Amino acid sequence: MRSHTIAVIEDEQTIASSIAARLGKEGFTVEVAGDGPSGVELCERTRPDLVILDLMLPGFDGLEVCRRIQRDRHVPVLMLTARDTETDVLVGLGVGADDYMTKPFSVRELVARVQAILRRAQRVPGPGGMPIQLGDLRIDPGTREVSRGGNPVHLTPIEFDLLFKLASHPNMVHTRDHLLSDVWGYEDAFEGRTVDSHVGALRKKLGADVIRTVHGVGYAMNPPR
Ligand code: CA
Repeated sequence: MRSHTIAVIEDEQTIASSIAARLGKEGFTVEVAGDGPSGVELCERTRPDLVILDLMLPGFDGLEVCRRIQRDRHVPVLMLTARDTETDVLVGLGVGADDYMTKPFSVRELVARVQAILRRAQRVPGPGGMPIQLGDLRIDPGTREVSRGGNPVHLTPIEFDLLFKLASHPNMVHTRDHLLSDVWGYEDAFEGRTVDSHVGALRKKLGADVIRTVHGVGYAMNPPR
């Protein structure tokens, strides 16, 4: 099997080289860039399978890098932030990263997330099935299109999968652990804001009423009328 290429865009050299060394050991081809403009250039040149992207970069920041590299194709992005509050801001902006990790993080965990995101990206979409209609919310797994009140809503691939999972069992409460394993394919239940941040993105795009929080448990659909 062809080895996957991973681009690491990170200006802190010790972090960049420890990530690169570990991914190299796992059999990945790793390319490193240390600022925004060279990160974009690197992605155009090497067309990586996944990008590990630091938020704060010289030149222009990770947000701008994320926008530019996603212009003509979706490439999975694992975003690194210095604080949880930064993740909240990113989610509010609908940046479209597949996952976020807050520094300091364990490199072992980063590798596990990289492997899971790549497995997801490779999964061939199934036959699709029938569209789901919940009130004015319509989800079509065949075309992966979503609309609310007839207005199309653009979701990232992982946002679509999360919404589809919740909407397929609209009366069920889903724990964060189950969502991480079913939607992200994570085998270990990692701590963190991964699920919360993507639920936040869905609420922002579809309306705050669409998903309800079940405190201490997880999330459920709140089917619109
Ligand atoms: Ca940085």
